[in-house]
Amino acid sequence: MDDCVFCKIVRGDIPCRKVYDDGELLAFHDIHPVAQVHIMLIPKLHLASLMEADGSHEALLGKMLLLAPKLAKKQGLSNGFRTVINTGKGGGQEVFHLHIHIIGGNIPPMVRRD
Ligand code: AMP
Repeated sequence: MDDCVFCKIVRGDIPCRKVYDDGELLAFHDIHPVAQVHIMLIPKLHLASLMEADGSHEALLGKMLLLAPKLAKKQGLSNGFRTVINTGKGGGQEVFHLHIHIIGGNIPPMVRRD
C-alpha cells in the first residue's frame, strides 16, 4: 500500500523507534504517546482493520495477542498494560493498517465512575 504510513514504516521509507521485528510482525513506539509506554504492534501485511480480517488471519491475530504481553514486559510493564484496537472511523481509527496499541504506566481506568 503506497500511501499507508505503517506500510512505509515496514518498508523503511520512514523511520520508527523499533522494539520488535520478525518476518510477520513489527512493533515500535507511538509517535504521540498517551502514557509512559505506548507501543504500536502491527502485522507487516497490510490489513486495513479488524473488519477486513477473516479466517486466513487467525494465526496472525493470535500471534499478535500472544506477543503483546511479552513486549509489555520488556517495556517494564510487569504490573499490567492496556491493549486497544480501534476499528473503522466509528471506532476512532486514524491509521488504516491494523494495529494493537500497547499502553502502560500510570494509566487511569478506562471507564470513569465519578
Ligand atoms: P489509531 O487511532 O488507532 O488509528 O491510532 C494510530 C496511532 O498511530 C496513533 O496513536 C498515532 O500517534 C500513531 N502514529 C501515526 N503515525 C505514526 C508514526 N509515523 N510513527 C509512530 N506512530 C504513529
